[in-house]
Amino acid sequence: MGLVFLNTFTRKKEAFAPLEPGKVELYTCGPTVYDFPHIGNYRTFLFEDLLRRYLKYKGFSVVQVMNLTDVDDRTIAASRKEGIPLSEYTARYSKAFFEDLKTLNFDLAEHYPAATEHVGEMVEIIQKLLKDGYAYESGGSIYYKISAFPGYGTLPHFKPDELKAGARVAADSYEKEEVGDFALWKAWDEKDGDVFWETPLGKGRPGWHIECSAMSMKYLGDRFDIHTGGVDNIFPHHENERAQSDAFAGHPVVKYWLHSEHLLVEGKKMSKSLGNFYTLRDLLTKGFAPPAIRYALISVHYRLPLNFTFEGMTAARGALERLYDFQRSVKNAKEAREGVEVGHAIHKARETFEQEMDDDLNISGALAALFDFVRETNRLIISYGLSPKDKEKIGEFLCKLDSVLGFLKEPSVSIDLQVEKLIAQRNDARSQKDFARSDQLRLELEKMGIILEDTPQGTKWKKRL
Ligand code: AMP
Ligand code: ZN
Repeated sequence: MGLVFLNTFTRKKEAFAPLEPGKVELYTCGPTVYDFPHIGNYRTFLFEDLLRRYLKYKGFSVVQVMNLTDVDDRTIAASRKEGIPLSEYTARYSKAFFEDLKTLNFDLAEHYPAATEHVGEMVEIIQKLLKDGYAYESGGSIYYKISAFPGYGTLPHFKPDELKAGARVAADSYEKEEVGDFALWKAWDEKDGDVFWETPLGKGRPGWHIECSAMSMKYLGDRFDIHTGGVDNIFPHHENERAQSDAFAGHPVVKYWLHSEHLLVEGKKMSKSLGNFYTLRDLLTKGFAPPAIRYALISVHYRLPLNFTFEGMTAARGALERLYDFQRSVKNAKEAREGVEVGHAIHKARETFEQEMDDDLNISGALAALFDFVRETNRLIISYGLSPKDKEKIGEFLCKLDSVLGFLKEPSVSIDLQVEKLIAQRNDARSQKDFARSDQLRLELEKMGIILEDTPQGTKWKKRL
């Protein structure tokens, strides 16, 4: 059995075969840059990172596009509330987003296009939809006529009676009950302030859904392999995008649709509107290291809801510590002759890891294989030790797994933190008049190349050059 994915469109597990052998084109809906993303958003982005990394592990070359939604109802409302230009406002949160990606050790996508830079492409698609009878004008805005698209409602698996066409919605986000013709182009309105484009469609701005149709087809063409997002994107965002893109192209554009379940808090979706959210920065301030956050958000299958709790965070930290301890034990293991056991253990763990990941990215099974390997190898270390060659093999194996997992490298504590800690201990010793201890700490710092200077404002330090 090879790689299989559960396709939201068919609700079936399907063997994965990319359009072009050896190459995968992947479109992942990105953040709306109106605020710091919360860790629910990162659960979805990390699922996409895991998908991307595993495809690369399997030998595919991957072209991933993740858009930035930098104009929509939310960004406009938020920037106007603060009274600063939209581009200045969204630049702040785009910057924060890229910092977070680095912190969480994302394998970066090939393209991060911003919606505001692709309005021309959106206008072209809308013009064609108008010409072909999929869209109409009303009050200066342009709407998509869902009754013109056979099969509208298939991706969210709507029943026929849920599709009472005729209603019209102007908002970017809306509920299933409001299903109807949706806005492709919104005529300028006072609440948009100075956000508008003068185009052949009139003065206005694009709707949210057309942004992703334009950016996906611009970078990946009108047929590509995988489109992903969180389950809340299935309707209306992805169904509307599908209706637009497929009508424009004249054929289905996306081959596989994959959606990740939500991060929940007490059974409810973590969201800005419910106020039940934590940002990445919140968790860092509470003392959780980035790899533990990455572990906690990745280690449950993407199609299962994940309840966020601090106990869960602590458990993730504990699991990671076991993995770091293991790597230290390997390094410090006493020398033994080379045997066949380590090779066998690696082989078995690799096979199970791959079988589980091939099965729609079953990460919990894949991690179980890793922990079994750790247990088995620890037994060998205690009973016999390891040969230098075996140590090398284990190192290579873990490195390969980490190309998928991205949390196996223990972060080194920065020199600054270590120094600050030792200086604080030395100050404590001095205030308790324990001069032997304070001298010993000064010596320890000196060995690290740190020179201390006690001043009336406190202890200053610098690195010896
Ligand atoms: P947004 O910035 O709201 O456009 O959302 C960015 C991504 O995060 C989308 O793919 C959403 O589906 C996803 N998302 C939003 N809330 C959650 C949540 N609580 N858990 C998982 N994914 C989420
Ligand atoms: Zn999108």
